[in-house]
Amino acid sequence: MSDFQMFHALGQGSSDPNQPQTEPAAPQFRPPVAPSPGGYQQAGSNAGAPQSQYGGTPQSGYSGYGAPGQDQGYFPLNSGQQMQQQPQDGMAGLTEQLGSMAMGGTAGPHRPRKKDRHAYHTLDAPTGSSQAFNGVPQGAGPQFLNQNGPQSAPGTPGMAQFPGGANAMYQPPNAATPMGHSAHGGAPGAPMAGSTVTSAQGRVDPEQIPSVPRSRDGPAQYYLEHVYPTMESHLPPPAAVPFVAYDQGNSSPRFARLSLNSIPASNERLLQTGLPLGMVLQPLAKLQEGEQPIPLLDFGNTGPPRCNRCRAYINPFMTFRSGGNKFVCNMCSYPNDVSPEYFSPTDPSGVRVDRLQRPELTLGTVEFTVPKEYWAKEPVGIRWLFLIDVTAESCNKGFMTGFCEGIMNALYGSDSAAEDETNGEKQTSLPPGSKVGIVTYDKEIHFYNLSASLDKAQMMVMPDIEDPFVPLSDGLFVDPEESKAVITSLLTQLPTMFADVKNPEPALLPALQAALAALDHTGGKIACALSALPTWGPGRLFMRDDQKMHGTDAEKKLLTTEHPGYKKLGAQLVEKGIGADFFMAAPNGGYLDIATIGHVSSISGGEVYYYPTFHNPRDTLRLSKEIRHTVTRETGYQALMKVRCSNGLQVAAYHGNFTHHTFGADLEFGSIDADKAIGVMFSYDGKLDPKLDAHFQAALLYTSADGQRRVRCINLVASVSEAMGDIMRLIDQDAVVHLIAKEAAARIPDRTLKEVRAAITEKSIDVLAGYRKNSAGSHPPGQLVLPENLKEFSMYTLGLLKSRAFKGGREPMDRRVHDLRLIKGMGTTELSLYLYPRIYSIHNLDEGDGFANENGHLRMPAAIRASFSKVEEGGAYIVDNGQICLLWLHAQVSPHLLEDLFGPGMNSLQALDPFSSTLPILETHLNAQVRNILQYLETNRGSKALTIQLARQGLDGAEFEFARLLYEDRNNEAQSYVDWLLSGQRKKEETGDSSTMAATFAGLRTPYWG
Ligand SMILES: [Zn+2]
Repeated sequence: MSDFQMFHALGQGSSDPNQPQTEPAAPQFRPPVAPSPGGYQQAGSNAGAPQSQYGGTPQSGYSGYGAPGQDQGYFPLNSGQQMQQQPQDGMAGLTEQLGSMAMGGTAGPHRPRKKDRHAYHTLDAPTGSSQAFNGVPQGAGPQFLNQNGPQSAPGTPGMAQFPGGANAMYQPPNAATPMGHSAHGGAPGAPMAGSTVTSAQGRVDPEQIPSVPRSRDGPAQYYLEHVYPTMESHLPPPAAVPFVAYDQGNSSPRFARLSLNSIPASNERLLQTGLPLGMVLQPLAKLQEGEQPIPLLDFGNTGPPRCNRCRAYINPFMTFRSGGNKFVCNMCSYPNDVSPEYFSPTDPSGVRVDRLQRPELTLGTVEFTVPKEYWAKEPVGIRWLFLIDVTAESCNKGFMTGFCEGIMNALYGSDSAAEDETNGEKQTSLPPGSKVGIVTYDKEIHFYNLSASLDKAQMMVMPDIEDPFVPLSDGLFVDPEESKAVITSLLTQLPTMFADVKNPEPALLPALQAALAALDHTGGKIACALSALPTWGPGRLFMRDDQKMHGTDAEKKLLTTEHPGYKKLGAQLVEKGIGADFFMAAPNGGYLDIATIGHVSSISGGEVYYYPTFHNPRDTLRLSKEIRHTVTRETGYQALMKVRCSNGLQVAAYHGNFTHHTFGADLEFGSIDADKAIGVMFSYDGKLDPKLDAHFQAALLYTSADGQRRVRCINLVASVSEAMGDIMRLIDQDAVVHLIAKEAAARIPDRTLKEVRAAITEKSIDVLAGYRKNSAGSHPPGQLVLPENLKEFSMYTLGLLKSRAFKGGREPMDRRVHDLRLIKGMGTTELSLYLYPRIYSIHNLDEGDGFANENGHLRMPAAIRASFSKVEEGGAYIVDNGQICLLWLHAQVSPHLLEDLFGPGMNSLQALDPFSSTLPILETHLNAQVRNILQYLETNRGSKALTIQLARQGLDGAEFEFARLLYEDRNNEAQSYVDWLLSGQRKKEETGDSSTMAATFAGLRTPYWG
């Protein structure tokens, strides 16, 4: 077969990624929608009527939870001042704005610029446009003739980020800018603007300070109807917003986000911004419905072409010359020979004639299967080993039952309805080739032969926990479909089998060592349940959380582990290519030493699911959903990762949950999954040439769950600039916050919480001070100046300070450590929600809210600010931070609302079941609306399952959690949002130069912390 044909056939599926315009309109994000209840009449309760139909009165002067009291007398803004006028009517104003943006009526013609020429000089493939995806007919021809030309953004003129000339000077904030989305899209023709909020004698109208809910709702609306094209210099959508990306050679922000999409030419320039230069990588992120699958390319025994000098993988930014005989590396500029197998002639402009048939030369994210030299061991389908705690506590509290049901749900789906659909032929949820094994443990370890040939599972007890070994070779790992009967009967019987044994103490470390031995030859994944502090046998732990140590230097010890047994085990798991997820329940709120046990997860790339006050049945649904999620999400194991960047830059640090032996070595993961992200920081080893672009490539080598050894390559390109205006225009606020959060979490335990809190505060002041200094200094004292693309930055850093990980005041160490490690591992969507929850009022929904609009998209109500001042008397609210979802009900909530939501007879707060985790399915309009909204939230979340927890005012403990999540208020031993902004401002003005204060914390500063 000629090599051309060979490669031609490589792309998976028949669709050519370069022919998007031949595709029908891609399905946009369409959350599942419950049917509208036909003909249902709102008896008396009027769930659909606008405005507080449930009898709640508008909030006035209600102060609680340390919210800024109304008597504080915030001054409204002086209308003469430059101010961003936020439309008050939400959707109507928004539509108008987005409408005008999309039409681009005022956009000037795109002028070819110097920057365009070089920024896209290698991107000679057509840049698709979102119009193609949106079904707007286009002429097919011109797009493909566009090679080497300046790449304008034909599809979305209104979205252009560089409306001005190439070297347009930075403009100080001036005009009112369109709300919300403009922060990320830039109004056509408008200069880059910052937001100013005026304060007089320290008083600011809290309505006028930048709103996180607004910054999400606008783009969320926009991206329902628009695709995000990756090469058109648009800022990525906010991290909390669903979007469909179109890969034009640059990776989707789903996989990689740069903090600065225009790279400062020198370290000095970077320091002036106060911003970190880095990238957030989520290499296995889940694709959105409507996105092209990542192509899997097979180059046979030679493997994918790579640079001989720096080993970078072939990508769209490598250039071909000498008639196609050489390819020049975009990372190190080395001219490599093209192998005969990979040769293709080039056209007169130097472009390979086969380019459009080659995904690796046109797409930012591709996968290669790789030959044996990339293997550490023979790749096989993933082995899942379930380690089940069968001690008395696990039995008594219903945790074991929940865990066993969760495994069955994960393997076979939960309901019989699903089976009916396929005539009982329901296939397992696991990829082909996967196998599962079950081990239980208390003071002993029990293995099970699950062979399909057996009538029922055979148990083998391993009493020697000092030196556990695996007592069987066949039947430990089985095909879950073939052994379905054996597995389900075992999982169903386990709770009764151990009901009478009642060993109180789990021997966890020996059980994990047995799991390691079982997976020694293949690698794989452990899902381990634990319901009590493991106090038995080798590696037993003891209660070491001591309130007296909190807030002192000794606290650091509590935030980490020195346990040699767990540290060694973690290292061995990574070495063998095994990741460990834990499901840890503390039914009585007891201590579990997550610092020690969770260490195993954090260095092996796994995850801890923590149920601090596990209650059966309230938390059983959540447990079950999370087991299913962890087993079915995309998971790779035995993984290595490396990030390369072009000359002049170098990787300075990585932050996340993995193992990194020496600087410069690859990151090692026992396993990695769709929800995990890594922060990568860059530093300068020279000055960058603004005429050239900066290139980045992340390569993840892993074994896929179906047993293929692969490399996933993620490529990013960014322009380089000397001009502060360019740099500030392309800041990705979410990536900035994400990098700061991951680094802050990584600093623990080397630094105390107090020091890290101070550093976060300093950092956020630095960033805003940097902006103020660089924006021509035309701002009178007392005026808050917030860069357009960093408007919500201060709120997010305040959210970080108020998180369980970093907040002041009391916090059980288990929860703190858990959250610190969560932050290190979280993906961008999950972290964004964690730093600022989504809150929706459901007592005044519009009739159409929670139902599909004419385009089939779910209509979401506008989110409200996280402040008690927004809470209305008689109101009902959904509060979701990606970890928990509260349903908060005001004491005077309407009985009609309760009945509509929970069913007949449920007409008072007292009548509700405090342990319910879902809403009943009712025929009322309100019930359907809220269930649809919850379903939408669940589809756009991180790794945690969404179940509701009731927080009834004055009745439930969860009310404290509600208060804690009102991040704009004064709480969690930290300031309110308004005070936070103002105090930061004052500090900047007092010190004049932020470096004075920075010096105080010099020890904590790395080059990228300013
Ligand atoms: Zn190279």
